[in-house]
Parts: sequence; C-alpha cells; structure tokens
Amino acid sequence: MKRVMKVLGLLLALLVVAAGGVWYSAFGSNSPIPEGLLVPGVETVKDGFVSAFILDDKSGKAILAALQRRGLTAASVAAIFLTHGHPDHTAGCRVFPAADVYAMEADVPLVGDAAKVTHRLKDGDVSTVGDLRVEAFAVPGHTPGSAVYLAHRVLFFGDSAGASKSGEVMKAVHLFSKDPAQNVASLKALAARLQPRAAEVVELAFAHTGPLAGLGPLATFASHSP
Ligand SMILES: [Zn+2]
Ligand SMILES: [Zn+2]
Repeated sequence: MKRVMKVLGLLLALLVVAAGGVWYSAFGSNSPIPEGLLVPGVETVKDGFVSAFILDDKSGKAILAALQRRGLTAASVAAIFLTHGHPDHTAGCRVFPAADVYAMEADVPLVGDAAKVTHRLKDGDVSTVGDLRVEAFAVPGHTPGSAVYLAHRVLFFGDSAGASKSGEVMKAVHLFSKDPAQNVASLKALAARLQPRAAEVVELAFAHTGPLAGLGPLATFASHSP
C-alpha cells in the first residue's frame, strides 16, 4: 500500500516535471538534463524532454540487513512464499536469485516480471523446504490468487487481513482489493476450516499491521461478519 502511495507520488512528480519541461521549453532556457545518478538512490533517466527518476526503495535491504545479523546472505534464502502479486510484496524477490518462488497459480500473472514463480500453488498444497512445512490456503478477494500460509504455527495473511489497534481482525483494505466481498467470504471459510486445528495456530501475522495471538481473533471476525 505504501508502495502504491509512492508510485502515485512519483506520477504526480513526473506530471509536474513534464509541465515544467513544456514551460521552460517555451522560454528556451532549459539546462541540459544530465542522465545517471542524481544522488545515491535516485537515478535520472532522460525520456525525450522529460526526466524520469528511478527511486530505490528499501525493498530487500531490510531483509538483507536482518539476514546479515544472523550471519546469512541473500544466497541463503532458499524459498520465498508470496502471499499475493502486489508490487509491495514482490519487489524484493530479485535480490534473492537462489530462492525458489512460490505463489498461487491465480496470482502468477499479477507477479509478472517481478519474480519468476517456480512453484505454482493450489489450495491445500503443502510444500517442504528443508525441515519447514508450509501449508497454503487460497483466500481469493484481495487479489484472485491471494494465499494464507501456515508455517511454524503462524498464519501469514499478507494483505488479506490486518489487526486493528483494539486487537480485532480487519478485512483487506477495500481500496486496494479486487473483490472485498469475496475477501470476507474467504476469511470466514478459513476460520471455519481451521477451527478444528486451532491448537496448531499460535499467531496471526499480517503484512501491514502488527500480529495477533491465536486463532481466536479470526473466529471472532468470522462470527461478526454478515
Ligand atoms: Zn501490501
Ligand atoms: Zn496487496
């Protein structure tokens, strides 16, 4: 979501730059556009009379720093499980060339060029990476191929849900979701499906909020949703 805001900001900046370019041309006093690194992390690309800027974001860098603290490198990452294909979730993939990339079949088109999906998943698939067992649940709605993963007794939701300040499960953010009604239906179905296995879930993890403990908050969400 933050990434989307950045993109909007960049588009706005480009429009401003484009408008500025036309204005300056009229007065014939443009200084030439220098291509290349403007400042560290910002690269100028000259496209006709307009400058485009490639801005490095922190994708991958925080992950690399965390790996480094554990004496690991990008090459140590064996697998990446994509919860869905939105760019704020896929942009870091290229930093890990040795990693297999798992995603739900239905979101492979959305992942596009951001990553090469090596394992196309279906609902219920169980993948094994070393001694790690990862179970995939299809939760279409936020995107057609959104996945929730159960691994290490944690349920990873990506953007399909979040936690409110008061400790409740919230549905996916409407504005960025393909089918909000389907998102709620998917979360309710997941709650029902996992209820008999509640003891296997100690934590709910979300992409853009803090976590919640246990399966309880998901069950409560399901019982309160029409
Ligand atoms: Zn997101
Ligand atoms: Zn998303």
